[in-house]
Amino acid sequence: MIKSKHPDREVSLRIALTLAILWLTSSAAVAQPASEIALIKRQFNELQKISIRQNREYCGYLVLDSQSRLSATPATRGRRDSCQADWPEGVRVVASYHTHAAYDPDAISELPSTTDLEGDRFEGVNGYVATPGGRLWYINSATMTTRMICDVGCLTMDGRFKPSIYETVVSRYTYAELAEIQDGP
Ligand SMILES: [Zn+2]
Repeated sequence: MIKSKHPDREVSLRIALTLAILWLTSSAAVAQPASEIALIKRQFNELQKISIRQNREYCGYLVLDSQSRLSATPATRGRRDSCQADWPEGVRVVASYHTHAAYDPDAISELPSTTDLEGDRFEGVNGYVATPGGRLWYINSATMTTRMICDVGCLTMDGRFKPSIYETVVSRYTYAELAEIQDGP
């Protein structure tokens, strides 16, 4: 309890504190609620098998219906290194999702690409990416950064996957850092 000779000030302090706490908890929840992570993991674990077997990306969106129920749209089959799903109508789009097909020692497929970040930014959504090594990445398109939610093998992975000895994967990248890796030495 905050002691004050000025009751008005005490009230406004309490309101300020309450607002601060609300803001903190809501922005944490907006990040990625556990239910959203659980849903995307289930979706990716289904898609990874077929995406790896066919060596094709699969993509779609996480959406909220009018009752705020979260679901994943059915996946669209893409190409080996790109995928474009139809924009879902009549729902609120929360995030895009896509797989990175099969293990390819010559591709930088264990990280989201700068194009992935640009696409999410353009559409005004965040994003999820599954890699051949079974990593799960989250793309924050407002900050243009990506964060690894879980590491190798946390999703269904390509049995042929070998971690590259040339590449250390850390848990967070900015757009500029990804661009530097993609452009190579
Ligand atoms: Zn990608």
